Amino acid sequence: MSYVSSRFASFGSSVFTEITSVARRAGAIDLGQGYPTWEGPDFVKEAAVVAIRDRSNQYPPSIGLPVLREAIAARWKLDTGMTADPDTEITVTSGCTEALAATILGLIEPGDEIILLEPFYDSYPVCAEMAGATVRSVVLRPPDFAIPLDELESVFGDNTQLILVNSPHNPTGRVFSREELEGIAQLCRRHDVIAVTDEVYEHMTYDTDLVRMATLGDMWERTVSLSSTGKTFSLTGWKTGWAIAPVHLSEAVRAAHQFLTYTVPNPMQWGTAAGLGAGQSYFDELRSDYQRRRDFLADGLGRVGFDVFLPEGTYFMLADHTGFGERTDVEFVHHLINEVGVAAIPPSSFYTDPSDGSALVRFAFCKDDPTMEAALERLEAGLRRPP
Ligand code: PMP
Ligand code: GLN
Repeated sequence: MSYVSSRFASFGSSVFTEITSVARRAGAIDLGQGYPTWEGPDFVKEAAVVAIRDRSNQYPPSIGLPVLREAIAARWKLDTGMTADPDTEITVTSGCTEALAATILGLIEPGDEIILLEPFYDSYPVCAEMAGATVRSVVLRPPDFAIPLDELESVFGDNTQLILVNSPHNPTGRVFSREELEGIAQLCRRHDVIAVTDEVYEHMTYDTDLVRMATLGDMWERTVSLSSTGKTFSLTGWKTGWAIAPVHLSEAVRAAHQFLTYTVPNPMQWGTAAGLGAGQSYFDELRSDYQRRRDFLADGLGRVGFDVFLPEGTYFMLADHTGFGERTDVEFVHHLINEVGVAAIPPSSFYTDPSDGSALVRFAFCKDDPTMEAALERLEAGLRRPP
């Protein structure tokens, strides 16, 4: 008999855990889970090493070290031109994952409705469930994965408390346009709804600028903006994140955060503060480096015969795999891992109805050139389009 509570049993195991372990066992090249094959910058790691050696290793304040909250506020000012008070409007969390959980648990009453855009990051519906909320959602469909604003309007209702928007968007790579976000903002104002924006890929946008919900007119007052260290500094194992929101919303995030994790490892906070204090050239180089990797993988997958949806942001790209035969995404990925030797993510677990993601496969390009080259060689050798 299983002791897993029904709440979690219904969600099964995380697709990332499952695919990563199957891929490792099979010796496949991993273009699946989104972790870089290189380690983060020395100046960031060094700041954490110095902190371990020469500073405190005891509990930091629950809301985060002042040095980090000030660095987050300074970077936010550079990125948005807006001021956030480090003492009352910024909260440091255990990655964006905990920021999401604290925000949802802190703001939601059982019975409230949360609106999601599908495909969604896998923790969103689970957090909603933990908070006792009901999920309403709309599906972004290929080829453009645009937000269907009319359909979205129809899922806003009297019980809607919150909408969660991830931009740049995992897994489609969309960076939502000003018009799309203005459309959402209008609905939030009309229905008195809070916007939670997951911006962990904020510094990975290609030939397009990130529009942030919090900067649209009066939306600051009803927006919680989330991000973290993992992607921007290639340190996904650091799990250091943050929430930026006006005082009345930050209070709710903090109310939950103090009992979820209480605080975040001290040295990583010093390291992250050093990272956020880097000159603009660090962020510009990150962007251009990823744009090159994106183009390299998209060209290669195109040569193999995939129909690729070129991402505007993130380090992921979706492709249509159905040219290689009629399989579900899960069947296709298992074929890739076991017969071709390359791992990717089957996106159907990011949808309420798995068939919405069945034709798609997600590849990550946060991988060094030899890894991507070797994966492309295997794909070219091992995949055939049926005649
Ligand atoms: N949101 C999205 C969209 C992500 O892709 C990820 C990836 N890990 C996270 C949140 C979680 O971020 P963190 O590792 O900082 O918890
Ligand atoms: N965000 C990463 C991805 O989408 C994975 C994070 C995880 O393993 N939970 O690949």
